[in-house]
Amino acid sequence: MSKKKKKKGILKYIIVIILLLFVIAFFSSLIIIPKLIKIDIGEKSEKIKFNQEYKIKEGKATLLGNKINIKHKGKINEKKLGKNKIKYTASFLIYKKNTTKIVDVIDEEKPQITLNGNEEITIYLNEEYKDSGATASDEYDGDLTSKIQTTGEVDTKTIGKYEITYTVKDSSNNESQIKRTVIVKENDNRNIIYLTFDDGPNDTYTPKVLDLLKKYDAKATFFVTGYGNDEYIKREYDEGHTVALHTFTHNYSIYSSIDTYFDDLNKVEDRVFRITGEHSKIIRFPGGSSNTVSKKYNIGIMTTLTKMVEEKGYQYYDWNISSGDAGNTTDPNVVYQNVISGIGPDKLNIVLLHDRTSHTYEALEPILQWGKSNGYRFMAITSSTKPVHHGVNN
Ligand SMILES: [Zn+2]
Repeated sequence: MSKKKKKKGILKYIIVIILLLFVIAFFSSLIIIPKLIKIDIGEKSEKIKFNQEYKIKEGKATLLGNKINIKHKGKINEKKLGKNKIKYTASFLIYKKNTTKIVDVIDEEKPQITLNGNEEITIYLNEEYKDSGATASDEYDGDLTSKIQTTGEVDTKTIGKYEITYTVKDSSNNESQIKRTVIVKENDNRNIIYLTFDDGPNDTYTPKVLDLLKKYDAKATFFVTGYGNDEYIKREYDEGHTVALHTFTHNYSIYSSIDTYFDDLNKVEDRVFRITGEHSKIIRFPGGSSNTVSKKYNIGIMTTLTKMVEEKGYQYYDWNISSGDAGNTTDPNVVYQNVISGIGPDKLNIVLLHDRTSHTYEALEPILQWGKSNGYRFMAITSSTKPVHHGVNN
């Protein structure tokens, strides 16, 4: 081998080694240089409140103390719960380093819960209690009223203090709660008006009367007959009024004998039972227990009937405030005056009305307004309501 050839061979090796060193240096730089890049993006994970405006922070990057370029990519949706990613990329020539920031949009806000109606409610023993519920809304979930859980019960047959709790959770499990106290107390008849409507149902006026009672959240007692449409008796019952018994025909000839009276009473009782599923035991004699018309048919029959009905488990109610709507007047103002002039806060107020005339209907709303604004409650007669008895004249 010549010297020249040998030299050439060594040169080749040197070149190959140099190239190799370059390659090694290049690849090493790809690993080492990014490691020398320092990135500052503040907190790597952040929590923000739903709907809270968030401005993405600019990052800072240096390589051996010199500022280099840094960019970020990604968006924050503050209107949606969950994690958002922001990717930061620092670069110098061909060298890059990445890091990410997580921004978690969370809902820590409790739902708002509000009672419908008062925080404390007093009802009387055996009075119907209808809970008016609560409403709830949440900043994130919106209306949560349908998600409210109600616990607690009111035993309207037992005097006591009851608590009803309304609880609602939003989709992030934030919980809110509100309570209501319901007091069941003995009915002392203070500030109560018992409106009673006789001779119905009447297809024209009964539905109108029911609408008004509903509007004023008033309960009443209907002494019904065999007339009118079943659906109005059903409504009276469903809407929390007392369906009581007058008689089926309301013909005074029912006073001809004990049997004719009870046949007629049984007939209306059967009607009410067929419609409501309940046997009503609250009754009113046509003409009241003090009527004198029964004398024409059978002297002494009222004395017998008033005893007999009680023996059979009925309670009969007369009235102590007469509206005069069944004959004395057709003027709604007079009906109104007759009623309100008879009412007092410390007495039992049982008002006689008839749901079959326009003047009664027209007087009803002013009566309801007057009662409400004077602190009275309109209640239905129940078996625990003290009866008013006129006293028998026959
Ligand atoms: Zn009558």
